[in-house]
Amino acid sequence: MVDKSISKLHRGVKILHDPIRNKGTAFTEAERETLGLQGLLPPRVHSFAEQELRVLGNIRAKPTDLERYLYLISLQDRNETLFYRVVMNHIEEMMPILYTPTVGDACQAFQHIFRKPRGFYVSLEDRGRIRETLQNWPHKEVKIIVITDGERILGLGDLGADGMGIPIGKLSLYTACAGIHPTQCLPVMLDVGTNNQSLLNDPLYNGLDRLRVRGSAFDELFAEFIDAAQEVFPGVTIQLEDFANINAFRLLEEYRDKACLFDDDIQGTGAVALSGIIASMRITGGKLADQKLLFLGAGEAGIGIANTFVAALADEGIAAEVARKQCWFVDSQGLLISAREQMAEQKRPYAHEHAPTDDFLSAVKTLKPTAILGLSGQPSTFTREVVEAMAEINERPIIMALSNPTSKAECTAEQAYTWSEGRAIFASGSPFDPVTIGDQTFVPGQGNNAYIFPGVGLGVIVSRSRRVTDEMFYAAALSLADQVTDADLQRGRVYPALSRIREVSALIALDVAKIAWETGLTEREQPEDLMADIREHMYQPVYPHYA
Ligand code: NAD
Repeated sequence: MVDKSISKLHRGVKILHDPIRNKGTAFTEAERETLGLQGLLPPRVHSFAEQELRVLGNIRAKPTDLERYLYLISLQDRNETLFYRVVMNHIEEMMPILYTPTVGDACQAFQHIFRKPRGFYVSLEDRGRIRETLQNWPHKEVKIIVITDGERILGLGDLGADGMGIPIGKLSLYTACAGIHPTQCLPVMLDVGTNNQSLLNDPLYNGLDRLRVRGSAFDELFAEFIDAAQEVFPGVTIQLEDFANINAFRLLEEYRDKACLFDDDIQGTGAVALSGIIASMRITGGKLADQKLLFLGAGEAGIGIANTFVAALADEGIAAEVARKQCWFVDSQGLLISAREQMAEQKRPYAHEHAPTDDFLSAVKTLKPTAILGLSGQPSTFTREVVEAMAEINERPIIMALSNPTSKAECTAEQAYTWSEGRAIFASGSPFDPVTIGDQTFVPGQGNNAYIFPGVGLGVIVSRSRRVTDEMFYAAALSLADQVTDADLQRGRVYPALSRIREVSALIALDVAKIAWETGLTEREQPEDLMADIREHMYQPVYPHYA
């Protein structure tokens, strides 16, 4: 394909500094002639494959994952096409670097490793002029925004403006996993201050030097951003990311019917966990209605999963009150029971009649769940006793240690398999290596919403849906579970191999997009061959020809 957009503006050194158009040493002789690049590059022309080899060699030679992260991000700043080629061709190797767990290290060190800004910063000081400042963004075709205020970054807490690493990482996955064009992705940091005193004490911290604002000052800034974003980028989809639960639930409720908006921690996590449970049942043989879920952690992710589970049972004709009784929570105050005096509104439907129980092990022993799900951000809380109790109650206990990053996982893959004598069906939020016990090797699945949000976003973009609905996330969960093969299950994995993520996302997008048409959420005429249309939308990292 010849790129006709090339102009004087993109000649010479300028094109070498334009990450979207740069080809580095892969510019051909003819291109070097046309674009005025003679002398600006070493004489030898390298193929794309050779460039990829060089990048891989460099990445693998780095001493730490954080160094690998830095190398990859600087490659993204220099040559985005090569960056995506490497990431897509080696997704299993690169995802843990660009995303959990390494992105957690990167956010914690963000102010010190800062080299070049990426993404868009909106702070309290921009009140009243956000629309104007958004015009500064160089790309006008933005289709998806991931926005955070940095208050609950993974399980690491308040990282303020340093949380920007998360929207950047998530949007890289939108491109790598679902082919959303890089120029259509906008990472946003909403800087409303931080309560992390060590950041405020650090002279190199990049964010506002103040404590977080709450109440109307926060709400007005958020509202202004949503209005401005919709005006500047009509039809844009907005993903809320890593807001603390005091804001996440209420923002979702307030804006889900006013904008094309969803909360990944609530809805995306709900879908990925439900999918894992549905796939697990192909091993355990039970029915969804027979599952009893015990959660450790009753925040966005835990409640989001329970709500999705209840919606799935509703689809099977089971009343919400009955379905909710299958979901139990232990949070920082112990077992969530109806006698508890004060609780957040979203927890109330799951506060059941029961004697108070402080510890998780007692809750496991008395409630006898079929699955335990860790969303507490507290490591080592699925103890040996907990896993052994689960293995005593269930022939195949479902154990999901979903907290991120790896350092926060409730137990490791090895612990789950060893303590259950190889019977656990295990999944984790961050990746774990395969585990061999005796002559059996188990490959743990990664129960991470990276399986869900890229496909959902692609389906919403292709269909031009006005809204993102719970029905779409439910469809995404079913689609994902459907794509788990018998071979995956035999190896103990309840999610498809990451190497298939592009295909997985395309099929999720198909089911999500269909809902947009079925429920009248789009004006776009449905293409005759929707799957072909979806594939056509998917970005491929190939160099254009300039001569
Ligand atoms: P949150 O802050 O909304 O909720 C955390 C919950 O954990 C709260 O209910 C809190 O009471 C509870 N908790 C804290 N300490 C506890 C303890 N010692 N014992 C029992 N409960 C305790 O956070 P969230 O958004 O729900 O995220 C929680 C974790 O889930 C994070 O580590 C996050 O990275 C992870 N997560 C994973 C995925 C995934 O795709 N795997 C998606 C979203 C969130």
